[in-house]
Amino acid sequence: MRVAIVSDIHSNLSALRAVLDHAGSIDAVWCLGDIVGYGPQPNECIALLRVYQGWAVAGNHDLAATGGMGVEEFNDAAAEAARWTAEQLIEESAVYLRALPPVVIEGDFTMVHGSLRWPQWEYLLSTEQAQAQFELQSTPYSLVGHSHLPFVSREQPSVPPVLVPASDGERIDLTSDRLIINPGSVGQPRDSDPRAGYALYDSSAATVTHHRVEYDIASTQEAMRIAKLPSWLIDRLSYGR
Ligand code: ZN
Repeated sequence: MRVAIVSDIHSNLSALRAVLDHAGSIDAVWCLGDIVGYGPQPNECIALLRVYQGWAVAGNHDLAATGGMGVEEFNDAAAEAARWTAEQLIEESAVYLRALPPVVIEGDFTMVHGSLRWPQWEYLLSTEQAQAQFELQSTPYSLVGHSHLPFVSREQPSVPPVLVPASDGERIDLTSDRLIINPGSVGQPRDSDPRAGYALYDSSAATVTHHRVEYDIASTQEAMRIAKLPSWLIDRLSYGR
């Protein structure tokens, strides 16, 4: 089985298309949340995702766009984009987002947007947070998003788990070590590499491989300008920040 692991698509259709094209023949898509927010094509991204078999969990932006949580914790640009997204969502999209669960367990994998402690809110960025995640994790591997930073963390006896950034083409062999994996962000990368990020799980090879894929950034930025989304959100796509 080949599965595209995607997260933080953020209504960026061009980036999502590029990632799915790159993944080629796949049996499923697993999405770690924040399908919408920031970007210009929320309904289109939801529709494309739903073409595939798979799972998706709720991100904070998915909840904010559908009234599931307030936008008080968001910065001004994110709050403005969340209000814009809420106005754009067709009923079918809103129903889909509202039904997303906070956590999904599929075989050896647990999927959550932020962390198992705080599914929609915690940015898993430190050794202490990785330790807390491993304590709550009942499967060998967990998949997280939210920080938009691709990494892998390995649980090892008597050594605290570190977060190792993952670059394009980096392959993780799935062994008996427990892991936390972040595939990075499809639609708004933040590790200074503007290319769309995702990971590909190959069950027969027992590997997960991080990938970065070029996409038409200018077309997404143009759609954002037409939608009058905040310029800071438009500019950052060029830099992957
Ligand atoms: Zn996000």
